[in-house]
Amino acid sequence: MRVVFLGAPGVGKGTQADRIAAQFKIAKISTGDLLREAVRNQTELGREAKRYMDQGQLVPDAVVIGLVRDKLAEAGSANGFVLDGFPRTVPQAEELGKVLQATKRPLHRVVNFQVPREDVVRRLSGRRSCPKCQATYHVEFAPSKRGEACERCGETLIQRTDDKREAIETRLKVYEEQTAPLIQYYAHKRLLSELDASGSMDEVFEALFGVLAPYSAI
Ligand SMILES: [Zn+2]
Repeated sequence: MRVVFLGAPGVGKGTQADRIAAQFKIAKISTGDLLREAVRNQTELGREAKRYMDQGQLVPDAVVIGLVRDKLAEAGSANGFVLDGFPRTVPQAEELGKVLQATKRPLHRVVNFQVPREDVVRRLSGRRSCPKCQATYHVEFAPSKRGEACERCGETLIQRTDDKREAIETRLKVYEEQTAPLIQYYAHKRLLSELDASGSMDEVFEALFGVLAPYSAI
């Protein structure tokens, strides 16, 4: 099964991508993870990406495409994959199409996660993370039992630069502007499924499973 998850930052598609990957035994490819790994390893692409991420801007196509192409080529993707956070633009989608066509592995489905904007801002601005052990929390939905400190290691929790309200507003605006044509692009190819992602994690998973189950044997 080869699927793409679309949706604004904070709609919960990353968590659902983890569950779908486990359920159908396919690889989860997240550009967020790929980028953070590149930034952490201070690769050339990583350093370039960081400049944009710190300002709440999207990382340029060439950087992201390079990272995704390498990942798709790895053996783990042979069984299929769920792409989380990529493509974000029509040029990226066209590039992805070329890569997949070259190996005769076209996409089966593109799922667009939809959540009201205010909910997204609330989810994102409440995130906190531990700079030492990378544990993540949410002030409202999953607070640390030790308040401002990490439950595991005691380090003071931080709010990532791109989770601050101003950066979130910028991210959502940029996302909406860039993604609207992408939704049209996949709708035109008859690959698009709209998904109401405002329910609980289990409700969303159930709906998602219904959309993807027909492709489970592919
Ligand atoms: Zn910690």
